[in-house]
Amino acid sequence: MGDAGSGRPVHMSFDPTHVPAVRLNDGADVPQFGFGVFQIPTEQTVTAVRTALDAGYRHIDTAQMYGNEAEVGQAIAESGVAREEIFVTTKLDNGCHAYDAAIGALDESLRKLGFDYVDLFLIHWPRPQEGRYVETWTALEKLKADGKARSIGVSNFTVEHLERLAERTGTVPAVNQIELHPQFPQAVLRAYHAEHGIATEAWSPIGQGGDLLQDGRLRALADGHGRSPAQVVLRWHIQLGNIVFPKSVTPERIRENIDVFDFELSADDMAVVDGLDTGTRKGPDPNRFG
Ligand code: NAD
Repeated sequence: MGDAGSGRPVHMSFDPTHVPAVRLNDGADVPQFGFGVFQIPTEQTVTAVRTALDAGYRHIDTAQMYGNEAEVGQAIAESGVAREEIFVTTKLDNGCHAYDAAIGALDESLRKLGFDYVDLFLIHWPRPQEGRYVETWTALEKLKADGKARSIGVSNFTVEHLERLAERTGTVPAVNQIELHPQFPQAVLRAYHAEHGIATEAWSPIGQGGDLLQDGRLRALADGHGRSPAQVVLRWHIQLGNIVFPKSVTPERIRENIDVFDFELSADDMAVVDGLDTGTRKGPDPNRFG
């Protein structure tokens, strides 16, 4: 999707079959491109999710702490798209790190979503100071065995937290969802994931739409491809193999963001985006947050 009036090509009618699937370590497939609903107010969530589904998205990323699971479920129910065609992730509330609390929390999510399973359930933050993520992980193993979560994973885990899970439990997380964008590319964690069969999900994939998208090097590259800076960053993720779900409530941007499957970045282009690394997070440090 080009900027209207800018002379860029405008790509219409995105075809959802163009989104590749990533095969998880438990055999499940997740669409590599999805829609994130963090900070979308409840009163805007149904419309935003419906817009995304209409635009071809088939993967929605929500969380108990986002407070909009009921609206995500409503949008899906009203969309006319079959439940089983949509990959839905939710994440455990930070206040529920314990076996029974985690089991009860997913039941509550399913009630709000109106589903009998989620595709992926994640521990949202490790909360190492509380020290219960290993116990909590065993609850997720039970939820997977019971079919309430088809796949289970973690979010914001460091190598240290992943190693601890590996030492104490029998299931390798299917994914680790982490802050990851060109300014904070997470090379060490990505290499660890690749070595251990953990899929990388990138949160804040376009750096929350901030200074990253204004960078002159990125803008020049985007102009050269007749694309927006956001599209180039999202294409960089896709070529790295990351799973992404940018957030927007603006219909044009919702359509623009997923329209990244008909152009390619060369090795030199990828290196330009790699060069935007500043080593700085936008979000909190997982060892301290929560
Ligand atoms: P993001 O990188 O997706 O940026 C979203 C912001 O970028 C929007 O609010 C808008 O201001 C801007 N934007 C969107 N499309 C644009 C475009 N085409 N051009 C210019 N600006 C544009 O950041 P995010 O919302 O933090 O992350 C995406 C998703 O990741 C969330 O919705 C959520 O699902 C997930 N997430 C997870 C965690 C976690 O702890 N697991 C934390 C944060 C986010």
